[in-house]
Amino acid sequence: MDTLQFIEGEFPWLMPTFAFLMGAIVGSFLNVCIYRIPAGKSIVSPGSTCACGQPIKWYDNIPILSWFILRGRARCCKAHYSFRYPFVEALTGFFFLAAWLSQSPLKAICLMLFSALLVCASFIDFDHMEIPDRFSIGLAAVGFAVSVLVPELHDFNRSEYAFASVNAAIRSSIGILIGSSIILWIALLAEAVLKKEAMGFGDVKLLGGIGAFLGWQGAIFSIFGGALLGCIGILVWSIVKRLRPQNETSSSPTPVKDSENEEFEGHIPFGPMLSGGALLYVFLLEREVLTYFSQFEELYREVSQRL
Ligand SMILES: [Zn+2]
Repeated sequence: MDTLQFIEGEFPWLMPTFAFLMGAIVGSFLNVCIYRIPAGKSIVSPGSTCACGQPIKWYDNIPILSWFILRGRARCCKAHYSFRYPFVEALTGFFFLAAWLSQSPLKAICLMLFSALLVCASFIDFDHMEIPDRFSIGLAAVGFAVSVLVPELHDFNRSEYAFASVNAAIRSSIGILIGSSIILWIALLAEAVLKKEAMGFGDVKLLGGIGAFLGWQGAIFSIFGGALLGCIGILVWSIVKRLRPQNETSSSPTPVKDSENEEFEGHIPFGPMLSGGALLYVFLLEREVLTYFSQFEELYREVSQRL
């Protein structure tokens, strides 16, 4: 820790830069996972290959940069590569940077793992309208294990608390239970009112996983923060869509894209919204939200004392 403090003092930009680059490299691996895991392919071998089957050289596989250098086209066959690849890399880099800047080093490393898993789960949800169990249930299992190993994730320092791991495990378990049960009830209620399935079990399991990492306060915030982000997202999406069709119909009259958009509107993926809410909480609003919830605890204490 002393060396870390020395580095931070002498070169304040070094660790944040390193965190961002680590995130971008992890993001590059997440692109592989997002594509291969739902397809049931191995994420380890073969190495990165182009759609035409040619292996991609290391210098064409530099996170973020290569896409811009090659202008989104493969060197071998000029196949078009989606802007999503550098976007996922930059996004993951940004989350790793945010984790490093907003938290203590140990907690930051836990949250880097957390954000990487959420990025992967969210983009798979975007593509397939489904979150694989290994991300939702897996997130809860990993969150619980990390809580026991690194109780600092729930702000229990080993030096201050004799049973830091036990405390963190309890907080993580309560997060799983409250997170998943609240969204289960919201889903059941929405289903009763709308007379159709509004949310999947994937979202229930995912919010349990978020609670495992962030505790019940973080899980509850993720629902409302996520809904807010979702509304903003849908608003931006509909504005972009309204601005775009005129240009598109004049250049290429293909109806394929429109049917894709309609399908997207019918089933809104909640995974990315919940994930966005969770990351908004942990990187920006954690302290405020905890203060907000603690007011209720105080109110409860006052009322129960009077009774
Ligand atoms: Zn190629």
